[in-house]
Amino acid sequence: MMPEDELVQREVPSPNWNERALPPGAKISMVVLHYTEMASADAALARLTDPASEVSAHYLIAEDGTVTRLVAEDKRAWHAGASFWRGTRDVNSASIGIELDHPGHAGGYRPFADAQLDALVPLLARIVKAHDIPRANVVGHSDVAPTRKTDPGELFPWARLAQYRLCLPRPQTLELGDPFPNDGAFMLALERFGYDITDGHKVVEAFQRRWRPEHIDGIVDGEIRAILFQLLLDRDQGRTR
Ligand SMILES: [Zn+2]
Repeated sequence: MMPEDELVQREVPSPNWNERALPPGAKISMVVLHYTEMASADAALARLTDPASEVSAHYLIAEDGTVTRLVAEDKRAWHAGASFWRGTRDVNSASIGIELDHPGHAGGYRPFADAQLDALVPLLARIVKAHDIPRANVVGHSDVAPTRKTDPGELFPWARLAQYRLCLPRPQTLELGDPFPNDGAFMLALERFGYDITDGHKVVEAFQRRWRPEHIDGIVDGEIRAILFQLLLDRDQGRTR
């Protein structure tokens, strides 16, 4: 089916969706980015439309930049699984899910294709604008499910999205000194920023994967503390939302 939408080349409806279950007054407030971890976009499409798989996303972007819509934006696609972000446990109800065709860590982790990113940027820009989604709520699957997921991973070019104000940029100027007296204080701050801190090591890995991808070891260090402090400071002072 050919949709009348310049940003969407293909429409392949998935049966894997239901109605959003949002609290009264709440609306779509997040975007979750994923990789498919499959050998090809066709293989991913087959899985995302197979009723037995019970998974889907709103959009799938092939490495060649072809955008396929699987689930209408006002419906609840099944992409995030057991997840948490800024107090929200039903991330699927609150979010739009975008799958990027990619072999993932299991299939030979590599940079994302330029054509794919060229398709993602305008699609994400439209989604963020249409639903007035805060930049701080454009996240990776690993941010909302740190104990289970590593996608889209440390090679995903968040900086490129940040250039277009589609996600938060990595803080460039960092406060000197140590903003948190101990790891417990750091963890509470991490939870305040949005993360599920059930597994301390895994959540630090997820934070590093997103905010300091060149060094991921799950250990809290001075730079990580300074990055988190700056992110919270920027948000509290209204420089970001
Ligand atoms: Zn995922």
